[in-house]
Amino acid sequence: MAVNGKGHKPPEPAQLAEAIEVLKRTVGSYGWSMHPGLIEPHAVDWTGSIRGDSPLLLKPATTQEVVKIVGICRQYGLKIVPQGGNTSLAGGSVPSGDHVEIIVNLARMNKVRAIDTINDTITVDAGCLLASIQAEAANAGRFFPLRLASEGSCQIGGNLATNAGGSNVIRYGNTRDLVLGLEVVLSDGRIWNGLRALRKDNMGYDMKQLFIGSEGTLGIITGAVLKLFPRPASIATAVCAVPSLQAALELLALSKQRTGGQVTAFELMPRNGLELVFKHFPACRMPLDKLYDWQVLIEFSSIDEAVSQHERIEATLSEAYASGLIVDAAIAASIEQGRSFWAIREALAEADMKEGATIQGDISVPISAIPDFLDSCSSAIANAVDGARIIAFGHLGDGNIHFGVIEPEAASTEDFLARSNEIEEIICDHAHRFGGSVAAEHGLGAMKTNAVLKYRGDVEHDLMLAIKHSLDPQDMMNPGKLLQASRPLL
Ligand SMILES: Cc1cc2nc3c(=O)[nH]c(=O)nc-3n(C[C@H](O)[C@H](O)[C@H](O)COP(=O)(O)OP(=O)(O)OC[C@H]3O[C@@H](n4cnc5c(N)ncnc54)[C@H](O)[C@@H]3O)c2cc1C
Repeated sequence: MAVNGKGHKPPEPAQLAEAIEVLKRTVGSYGWSMHPGLIEPHAVDWTGSIRGDSPLLLKPATTQEVVKIVGICRQYGLKIVPQGGNTSLAGGSVPSGDHVEIIVNLARMNKVRAIDTINDTITVDAGCLLASIQAEAANAGRFFPLRLASEGSCQIGGNLATNAGGSNVIRYGNTRDLVLGLEVVLSDGRIWNGLRALRKDNMGYDMKQLFIGSEGTLGIITGAVLKLFPRPASIATAVCAVPSLQAALELLALSKQRTGGQVTAFELMPRNGLELVFKHFPACRMPLDKLYDWQVLIEFSSIDEAVSQHERIEATLSEAYASGLIVDAAIAASIEQGRSFWAIREALAEADMKEGATIQGDISVPISAIPDFLDSCSSAIANAVDGARIIAFGHLGDGNIHFGVIEPEAASTEDFLARSNEIEEIICDHAHRFGGSVAAEHGLGAMKTNAVLKYRGDVEHDLMLAIKHSLDPQDMMNPGKLLQASRPLL
């Protein structure tokens, strides 16, 4: 068997043409495209900064078709890029450009296989949109808590492959915490059927956790059993101005204390970020009379109908106001108004990009270290890049900050982007120095393939590489992503 991709020769043109014909027949006329105009949106990442190429886009309709695709690609020496909604912010979902890579998009595998409201589980195809799963859960009187601004486009397979986080992590955990079972097509063409709906299962290694967060490098996820939760009966949302980041953290602690741990979201929104939101999304409205340096969006929720979260948030914010932890607040008077608060938060990332070329650091540090991290990292960036605009926002409640650096107004975009590695390194080095992660929720993708070795050391790197070599010895699955699979063990 070939190891590390060695001995896995790329196909000759005639062989490639033959392989493409066999693959097209396998998925039928609705399951493929070779039209460059149709392939292009699948070969460019969401940020537009990573662009690959592929001779063929496949959209299988069943797990059996995925099995056949893997077998054919293996036989002809073709690489595979598993793809969901292509909303990756790390360049993980598009071809690397170094090989002949076939894009396998799971959009047609979009069926709910089963819902069990006694076991509180939903079993789905991996190509289901996240928003559809939320809606199916709601129709069954249940709640699926994964919540991302991209939920209308991303697929659950992509969420699983990236271990997506989002804004409800503080209460419900990451995707990893929401899964009971998986079905995966391995690089050798076998199906691993781990579609179990068990809350207790100690039969050896937890294989599903290996595939969650593996970013398509170990196999193609085709199905999942997800946990469902009771629907919240009462939700309250507020936007508060805080006098400092330290006050925001004390407000978080107070909120946890006063709700018995029922804070669902705690999101940081800076003045300069909101200015860009109102500039580029004029329909968004600020709920406070004016902008402050730091705002937080807070959400409390409870399944207990007897406890009004509106009253609870009002009481908590009154206490916070009296002790100087907030200087202003607006509590949403309706679900509709709550949604308009969220629209502001969810526009922050796109507003940065509309403003200009942006380098986005997706880092996490222990929550208590956030003020010092932001201070130190912002000074380092300001010293390195004259006029850089720093927009730090995001999931304060779980320590995940999106640290954006927008090009200086006076500089050329080309010069700014030429320094992107240097800027990313400053952000990542700071996160590491403060005990953090350089890939908090978006994954490593194509952008950070050296990060495990650099920041986690040779032991962790070798463990990961050994797993990759063992499960995908020909480096067929999403080459050039997560780590450099062609490296030998150290
Ligand atoms: C506006 C916006 C907001 C976002 N907010 C958040 C956020 O709050 N939190 C967060 O975590 N992310 C966020 N993201 C990033 C992105 O939406 C998530 O990473 C999401 O989980 C990706 O899902 P996808 O279906 O688009 O996957 P893709 O982008 O298609 O793929 C992502 C990775 O998963 C692999 N993959 C996809 N499907 C499969 C499969 N079936 N089997 C194996 N591997 C597969 C791909 O190869 C790739 O490596 C945001 C993105 C945007 C554009």
